[in-house]
Amino acid sequence: MNSINVARPVRLSALLALLAVLAPSAARGLTLELQRRDPVTGAVTIETETVDPKRVGVIAVDVWNFHWCKTATMRVDAFVPRINKALDAARSLGMTVMLCPSDVVDNYVGYSQREKVFALPLVEVPKVMDVVCPATPDAGGCACGRERCAVNYGWDGMHPALRIGEEDWMPDTQAEVYAICQQRGLTHLIYVGFHTQVCLLGKPMGLRAMKSAGLSCVLARDMTDAHPGYDPSRNFTPDLNTAQVVEHFEKFLAPTINFQAELAKLGLWDPNWVVDPVRIAPWGTPMRPHLFERPVIVTLTAPLEPGAEIRYTLDGSTPAATSTLYTKPITVAETTRLRTSAFRGGRPVCLDSEGFFARMGPAPPAPDVAIGDLTPVRNVGFGHSYGGVVRYSGNTKPPRKDRSNLGQEIKINRTTYQRGMGVHAPCELGYEIKPEYKRFVALAGADENLVDISNGSNLAKYPTVVFKVFIDGKEAAASPVMRVQSLAWPFDVEIPKGSRRINLVAMDAGDGSRQDFADWANAGFVVQK
Ligand SMILES: [Zn+2]
Repeated sequence: MNSINVARPVRLSALLALLAVLAPSAARGLTLELQRRDPVTGAVTIETETVDPKRVGVIAVDVWNFHWCKTATMRVDAFVPRINKALDAARSLGMTVMLCPSDVVDNYVGYSQREKVFALPLVEVPKVMDVVCPATPDAGGCACGRERCAVNYGWDGMHPALRIGEEDWMPDTQAEVYAICQQRGLTHLIYVGFHTQVCLLGKPMGLRAMKSAGLSCVLARDMTDAHPGYDPSRNFTPDLNTAQVVEHFEKFLAPTINFQAELAKLGLWDPNWVVDPVRIAPWGTPMRPHLFERPVIVTLTAPLEPGAEIRYTLDGSTPAATSTLYTKPITVAETTRLRTSAFRGGRPVCLDSEGFFARMGPAPPAPDVAIGDLTPVRNVGFGHSYGGVVRYSGNTKPPRKDRSNLGQEIKINRTTYQRGMGVHAPCELGYEIKPEYKRFVALAGADENLVDISNGSNLAKYPTVVFKVFIDGKEAAASPVMRVQSLAWPFDVEIPKGSRRINLVAMDAGDGSRQDFADWANAGFVVQK
């Protein structure tokens, strides 16, 4: 039986916490501090409830490897070290851990954690109550600010660093979670994961469904993030958004706990652990740059390390306790690699994190001479070369004039182009430079026709392309890593007098060349008039 004790005096609860730490681990009980709010006044109330950990399940919802918003993807990434620690502790307490990567759970066929779910007897799920609430605050889901991110297609699994326990479960539906609860005798479910007011709440194994089936559902407010938004012009940050959503839960849906604090009471969380990177908004990375045309307002936060000093560098160097102190949002006007950490008394209390912002140049003029009308002196693509002849691999083709490599319209960032070259990286097109060529111009990007296949599912990792221009063996210009639906990268390269040869390269970005279909749109030469 669980006992609920309303408004227990502080000293008594401290004594109980001490007793819990002293008790042998097998007998450890959880004394959860359940936080709720008055729906009208917002006043906080705390109740304690003691529960046997063996009757508690922890459900991790949608800890995906990617999300369609780049900033949201990185904010999930930021929680994984913390969630790993909590799930390890939960397992050691005998709690049942359920990992629920909805949408992509079928990518885990053959995992014992998934297969054993199918062996459970399914029972009818009771409807104990209607779980209703006013509309949840939802800021739209993109936390990239004024320049919304290019859609980051296709999560295909859980975050690669999320540990999967031997005894964990991977259910996907209300009935499957309920069957696990029945078999394991679970009465309580602690929810961690993403996004608080969307999947964590509303998915078939989400909090709403399991609460309506009669389970006591609790939100771990220090291990969840809301479907975010970011508007620095009105100081609206993803963290503020999450705080609003947590409040909404406390008012209308479920009590919350600070999971870290609960585990610390049991001696299972060392306050010296460094598990939280500083959050960056918007959050582009070298592999997923935040491309911008107008200056970006960058906000740094350490929501789970209150009072820590955030420090940062803008020159790529490792952040230290002596680096610039963050006091207000930073305006980034040029291509910048930002690195940041947070410190308390000179000691790092956050993991290093990094943001990458790449400034786009102005749109280039149209070429006078299109490369498609020229005969390249070198023309190689993805394949094997035998005696100078390329055998193109898989479904890739030789570079194609005015079409994508597979023959569709050239398409980058929702725009189609009549002229250009469609290639598959790695590819090089070499041209002789005529004396009248003054500039090389192009718009380069990953070809977007891939998105037509199953709405781009599984495209978060591929394609990745880097475009480079070499003049007489010297790199004259390069793009950052380009992905499906990135803005087209503008090239406008001055050709030095007397130059003889230009090579246009589309490379993979260091992660293999799968799906690296790439377009040089409106590419060619501006001539001396
Ligand atoms: Zn975004």
